[in-house]
Formats: sequence, C-alpha cells, structure tokens
Amino acid sequence: MDFQIPEHVKKIARRVREFVDSEVVPVELELLKSGEELTVERLQELRAKAKAAGLWAPTMPKELGGMGLSLQEIVPIFEEAGRSMIGPLAIHASAPDEGNMHLLHMFANEEQRERYLAPLVRGEIFSAFSMTEPPPGAGSDPKMLRTTAVRDGDEWVINGHKWFSSNGEVASFLIIMALTNPDVHPYQGATMFLAPIDAPGIEIVRDVPTMGGKDFGGHVEIRYNNLRLPDSAILGEEGQGFMLAQARLGPARLTHCMRWTGIAQRALEIATAYASRRKAFGSRLSEHQSIQWMLADSEMELHAGRLMMHHAAWLLAQGEQARDETSMCKFFIAETVNRVLDRAVQICGGMGISRDLPISVWYEKARAFRIYDGASEVHRSRVAKSVVKKYAAIDVPVETE
Ligand SMILES: Cc1cc2nc3c(=O)[nH]c(=O)nc-3n(C[C@H](O)[C@H](O)[C@H](O)COP(=O)(O)OP(=O)(O)OC[C@H]3O[C@@H](n4cnc5c(N)ncnc54)[C@H](O)[C@@H]3O)c2cc1C
Repeated sequence: MDFQIPEHVKKIARRVREFVDSEVVPVELELLKSGEELTVERLQELRAKAKAAGLWAPTMPKELGGMGLSLQEIVPIFEEAGRSMIGPLAIHASAPDEGNMHLLHMFANEEQRERYLAPLVRGEIFSAFSMTEPPPGAGSDPKMLRTTAVRDGDEWVINGHKWFSSNGEVASFLIIMALTNPDVHPYQGATMFLAPIDAPGIEIVRDVPTMGGKDFGGHVEIRYNNLRLPDSAILGEEGQGFMLAQARLGPARLTHCMRWTGIAQRALEIATAYASRRKAFGSRLSEHQSIQWMLADSEMELHAGRLMMHHAAWLLAQGEQARDETSMCKFFIAETVNRVLDRAVQICGGMGISRDLPISVWYEKARAFRIYDGASEVHRSRVAKSVVKKYAAIDVPVETE
C-alpha cells in the first residue's frame, strides 16, 4: 500500500493553496464583512486569474482546457481549493458544475458536447442538475420520481415539479431526470434530458431560501409545464437515467468530501490559533485538557476521513463501483465536518458565533452536507445492509432463543 502523494500532485496542491490564500480568501473576507453576495462578474474576475495561473477545471481533460487530473490526484487539490467556499468556484471545481461536466464528458454525444460541455468547461456558462422533487416526489428515495416525459411524435413532453436545483439562477441549461416508462421499475424507466434554461415550459418559481445564507447560483424550485424537447435532448439513452445518476454521484460524493475537508481543516486551524492565544482561568485555552481533546479529536477524524477518500478514489479508479466505500466516506466526512465546525465554534466562543470569523457561516452551510448527496441515515442503512449480507451467515455460536 503506497501512501505517497505524487510530487506533481503536491506541487499543484501547493499552488492552489497559494492561489486561494492570496486571491480568494481576501474576496471571501470582504464579502463576509459587507454581507454582499458573490456576483457572476466578481467570480469571473477570479476565474480569469485562476486560468492565468494554470489552475482550471482540474478534472477535465487537457484537450478540453482542463488539467487532466484523475480522481485520486485531485484529493489533496480539491481540499486546498475547498479551504474557502469560493475556492472551488474560482478554479472550476465546484458543485454542481464539476459533477455535471463529468457526467457530460462520460455520456454526451458530439452535438451535446459542442453545445453544452465545451462552453461549460471554458466557464462561459453554468449548469444545474434537476432531480429532487418536493414531497411527495423523489428525495432520499429517487424511485419516487413523479416528473414525467411522455413521447408525442418525435418530441418528449415534460411535466413535473422540482426543487433544490442548485445553480438554477445562473444556469444556461438543466439536466432533468424524468420518468419515461412508468410500466417498468424506475431504475429502467427514467431518462435524463438536457434543456436550455430559456425553453418554453420551464418556470423558475423561486430560489429556496436556505440556512447559512444564499449560495452562489441559488437552489431553485422549478415547474416543468409541457416542456417540449426533441429526442436529441436525451443524455445517454432512454431508460438510462439511474445508471447515469449513479455514474455521476459516486465521484461527486467524493469531491464534496474533499472540498468540505478543506473548510473543516481551516476551521481547525482558526480554532487552534484562537485557543493558543486566548487565556482563561490563568492559562491558555490550548492548555486546558477539554480544549486539547476537541483539537485532537478533530485532527484524528479529519485524518481518518482523508484515508477513506483516498481509498474510495483508488477503488473507483480500479473500475469498481465502491458503493459501500463511497457511502461510508460520505457519511463519515459529512458527520466529521459538522463536528469539527461545531468544536471550532465552541473553542472560539463569542467570536466563533460572530461573523468576524468565517466559521459561523461554514457551520450553518455545512449542515446541509448531512442531507444532500444522500442523507447520513440513507448511507448508514446502505452500509448496514451490506454488513448483514456479509456477516449474518457466519457460523458464530450465539443463542437467540
Ligand atoms: C443545499 C442543497 C443543495 C442541493 N442540490 C441539489 C441539486 O443540485 N440537485 C438535486 O436534484 N437535488 C439537490 N438537493 C436535494 C437533496 O439531494 C435532497 O434534499 C436529499 O436527497 C434528501 O431528500 P429530501 O430533501 O426530499 O428529504 P427526504 O427524502 O424527505 O428525507 C428527510 C429525512 O428523512 C430521513 N431519511 C430518509 N431516508 C431514510 C432512511 N432510509 N432511513 C432513515 N432515515 C431516512 C433523513 O434524515 C432525511 O434527511 C440539494 C439539497 C440541499 C439541502
């Protein structure tokens, strides 16, 4: 087992760290102070600098303008970018565009690559992934999909109601999951469609207000009212929707983990700095054992999470689906990040609660990470099923009656 991170990866990670420290964090802190939102114009300024520094679209192939890095290689790089919420946006490694680029790169045909993927990789446009529906539709259980696409001549007519389509406020196109064949199991009866945002029949109802304040691009609620799309709008093939979703979600779960590990690491550093300077009851906070344990627990949990990410990324690189491992990773890191941020707020006391430090914002924003890309309970139950399957039949002498 080789734990060595290749030199070229370390080098890029260092450059990303320097870029985030020198270009991104000042913007982040300025926005935090003013309470303003990141605008597209401001983001494009940062993106121009990232491109000039050769730090652009790490996961996309070089011929498309990216850095051509593998999932294993990006683990430390995405973590460095993730030290600021704006870092991944600046280097084009943020959700949902990063996952959508990956999906299109795997499954888009020539025409779709030209129309959607190429300008998306260049950073000229944004995208959104429209799968989740308000109750009683698809959420944790995606089989409950209610949005339908019905064939009418050589067109599809889409009707449905979605929400939490992230980036929907800025997206030029949507990737829509709809049921195309209600007579078979949804895993075979759903299809993904690509639709330009200004197509007649797409009604952006609102940006759903969320805790932690507005995220760039918003999380929009959408109604599809007789949206008509041609056959050529299908991504992959009819009936492949869930297969494509799985192909997108595996790596996308890991990249979320990488980015959030960056934020948690920075929160741990801020908390350590505070604890090392602030005095209470005659000594520095960092000399109180209860504070030391919080710092140590955060360090240990982040370390374990990184190893899980490296392992899951390695399995995916071997062509395995690694469903259990990505579930374990997503669950563990989502919970860890929330614990680390909670401890950081606690250690920093009133300053941790204030907006003078960024950790109070991260604390609020990180809460959603335990819900999106599979709620913690869903990942736990998937792992539990595997545990029972693997170990229940083992011949252990236990009395049950
Ligand atoms: C910030 C944010 C961004 C998002 N971005 C997108 C996006 O870009 N595109 C998109 O399509 N969706 C997006 N989502 C939606 C997200 O994927 C869903 O919120 C998630 O899948 C959960 O679905 P739900 O909200 O309907 O919760 P529900 O399905 O109603 O579940 C509610 C709760 O029930 C519990 N639960 C569910 N299943 C089980 C189980 N089997 N066992 C035990 N407990 C269970 C969990 O605690 C869960 O949190 C986003 C959500 C958020 C918060």
